[in-house]
Amino acid sequence: MAAQVTTQFQGIVMYRKDYRERDQLVKFFTREFGKKMFYIRGARKKGFKLAAAILPFTTGTYVGLIKEKGLCYLNAEKTLTQFEQINLDIKKNAYVTYILNLIDSAFPDGDPVPFWYDRVISAMEKIDQGLDAQIITHIFELQLLPVFGVQQEWRGCIVCHRTDLPLDYSESSGGLLCQNHWHLDPKRAHLDQRTVYYLQKLSSVNLDNVRSIGVHHGTKAKLKAVIDLIYQDEVGLSLKSKHFIDTMDSWG
Ligand SMILES: [Zn+2]
Repeated sequence: MAAQVTTQFQGIVMYRKDYRERDQLVKFFTREFGKKMFYIRGARKKGFKLAAAILPFTTGTYVGLIKEKGLCYLNAEKTLTQFEQINLDIKKNAYVTYILNLIDSAFPDGDPVPFWYDRVISAMEKIDQGLDAQIITHIFELQLLPVFGVQQEWRGCIVCHRTDLPLDYSESSGGLLCQNHWHLDPKRAHLDQRTVYYLQKLSSVNLDNVRSIGVHHGTKAKLKAVIDLIYQDEVGLSLKSKHFIDTMDSWG
């Protein structure tokens, strides 16, 4: 891109923080330019004309000055979408915040990743409509693993590629092992086949095609445990928004 350009773009408000006395810095995930930080002058003044455009989790079409380096500026909004349920429901809110934090950690600022932009929009729509936010979040966690440099084999046994025998997750092998190869990892996860099935499914499904989700409570707890372990040991990511979800879970 040119060093700077005034243009229309698609964006999602990722987060914002107060800056100086009356201003804010707002990080947008844009479809065209990746993640960009915007300097919003007067954002904290009463009656600020772009107030609705920079509310958390707002998505829309915007016009602004995009700079290759440094802070960008927002000129106008064209269309805005607010997700009412995500704003009202603390759980939905927490999961979307975590998904956006994952995206923030996975990609450098200024790298366009329209594929992931579209997935995030899809996730926000589905979570807002009431689809299971935990499972949608697991789809992101699993499908972002290769971006974090962690390649897990979920399609079949990592040694012989068989899919017709019971499979189990092996952290040390980096994926699934079939029954014939369980002896290779004495510390294999001992997962039931339903949990393995969902790990395979969620790591490959196209979120756009997901119309309904009905995963049993016990299976959800096992999926979370495996994925948490991978993020803790393999990815090494520790996000505040994730800790909040863990705390929330402990409320029951
Ligand atoms: Zn095998």
